[in-house]
Amino acid sequence: MQAIEAKLTTDRTVRLGTVTVGGSRPILIAGPCAVEPDYVEAAGRLAALGVDVLRGCVFKPRTRPESFQGMGEAGLELVARARSLTGLPVVTEVLTAEEIPLVAEVADCLQVGSRNMQNFRLLVAAGESGLPVLLKRGFSATYDEWLASAAYIEQTGNRQVILCERGIRTFETRTRNTLDLSAVPVMRELTDLPIIVDPSHAAGTAAWVPALASAALAVGADGLMIEAHPRPRESWCDPDQALSLEELQPIAGWVLAAAPIRGLAG
Ligand code: PEP
Ligand code: MN
Repeated sequence: MQAIEAKLTTDRTVRLGTVTVGGSRPILIAGPCAVEPDYVEAAGRLAALGVDVLRGCVFKPRTRPESFQGMGEAGLELVARARSLTGLPVVTEVLTAEEIPLVAEVADCLQVGSRNMQNFRLLVAAGESGLPVLLKRGFSATYDEWLASAAYIEQTGNRQVILCERGIRTFETRTRNTLDLSAVPVMRELTDLPIIVDPSHAAGTAAWVPALASAALAVGADGLMIEAHPRPRESWCDPDQALSLEELQPIAGWVLAAAPIRGLAG
């Protein structure tokens, strides 16, 4: 037990508002893929479930140009309202350096998504904002490339980096991506940065998300990022993988119960 405690206290932690990532218990980040007009109401319900941090993007990196690209600046106002209503920190994605000053006014953490993991200018600009940065793994990136990207942020003097495994591209096509849970123990060895897992973008299908979430906690992840929506099939973005709030509820309980597992695995 002493060894576990020593490890937990020497690991680096990242603060999102009042929430500690990489501390003695895993955290739950949840919310819709994209901020939609009912985001504030959804945020209130997510807070009531015990979610630690809200997610919701206003700038969306979409594969196809005809897809919904996010509410843009109009969505930032909703993020600000959700944050003040719930008192919860919010993480939201930035696609360009130019967006950062606006987003930084309302967000507690900047997400750099999988498609931008090696957008080095964006990494530096995110680092220079001074805000914590959630760095998602590129879907074809090795661990070393991922860490090199984290180093771009850290080189600015901002050491508040959270790694997020979200599945990688393999020959399998039934899942959206292949969740690489080895990332958790391997990154524990290679870095003291906290690492969380996003089972939603890995599975791509809501029914498979809880099992992967549970597995991520079992390997000692510092948290989960899960897409959840009050009416999942009506989501404007990623409807197939969104959990309903009822489906999310048990996972909030697992996160609380997983503190000892995180210690053992970590
Ligand atoms: C997201 O979190 O909404 C997202 C776009 O994820 P990823 O960058 O992992 O595809
Ligand atoms: Mn999404």
